[in-house]
Amino acid sequence: MPILLILLLGVLAYLYWRRKTTTLTRECRWRRTAPGQWRCAFCGAETASEDSPVLCLRRET
Ligand SMILES: [Zn+2]
Repeated sequence: MPILLILLLGVLAYLYWRRKTTTLTRECRWRRTAPGQWRCAFCGAETASEDSPVLCLRRET
């Protein structure tokens, strides 16, 4: 099943890329409060996004 290996490698590469590009701090933790809605448990910021946000909105203020 080589295609499964290719898919697995793709997922791993994607996760690695996301980890390298994220700007989240250890203190910023996004929690899904509803489908498409995220809330940061640390700074209280809320946002609408399909995927987990990669930016702590606290930095923008
Ligand atoms: Zn935050």
